[in-house]
Amino acid sequence: MPCECLVGSDGSVIMICSRGRKPVTPCHYCGKPITSLCDYPVGEGKTCDRPMCNKCKTKIGPDLDVCQEHNNPDDIFKTQHGGAS
Ligand SMILES: [Zn+2]
Ligand SMILES: [Zn+2]
Repeated sequence: MPCECLVGSDGSVIMICSRGRKPVTPCHYCGKPITSLCDYPVGEGKTCDRPMCNKCKTKIGPDLDVCQEHNNPDDIFKTQHGGAS
C-alpha cells in the first residue's frame, strides 16, 4: 500500500501509511514516530500541536512538552500557565 501524504490546515504534513495499523504521525523535525504534541497555547483553547518524537521535544512539566520553536522562556511560561488569554 502506498503512503498517503496529507497536508493539514496549518501547513503541517501528515504521512499515513495504510497497512491496517493506526496512522502514524511523523516527528516534525526528524520524521520518527511521535510521542508528544507541542502544548504551547495558540488561543481559542488550541495548542501548537506540532508533532515531536522523544528526542526532539522539550519536556517542561509532568504532561507538558514544547516544540523547538516554542522552546524559549516566554513561550515555556505561557505553556505552563495556560496562555495569556
Ligand atoms: Zn524527532
Ligand atoms: Zn510549538
